[in-house]
Amino acid sequence: MSKDLTKKAAEMLLKGATLLSEPCPYCSGVRVMKEGHALCINCGREPEKKEIQVEAFQITEQTEIDITLGKKLSELSKELEKETNHEKQQQILRSINLLIETMEKLKSKQ
Ligand SMILES: [Zn+2]
Repeated sequence: MSKDLTKKAAEMLLKGATLLSEPCPYCSGVRVMKEGHALCINCGREPEKKEIQVEAFQITEQTEIDITLGKKLSELSKELEKETNHEKQQQILRSINLLIETMEKLKSKQ
């Protein structure tokens, strides 16, 4: 297990990622999943996104909400990157936090 991967996995878990019960299809290693993104801690491979979506989301409607929120989240992080005004940065950060909370809530409802 490489140190970088373990660190990455730990960071993902701290940010609310979950451990997948299904082992890695390539090496049978342990995988963590966050926002539809699964990462194998052992070999670092990420299987096809399509496969993960079938595993993780069974309700199409919910998947769409998730995709919308995900898009918004990446827009906000781009905004945050460009923003130099401290107050506006705080505002964007608050929005990002809210979005993440919403996403987590949607997931725990399942
Ligand atoms: Zn693997």
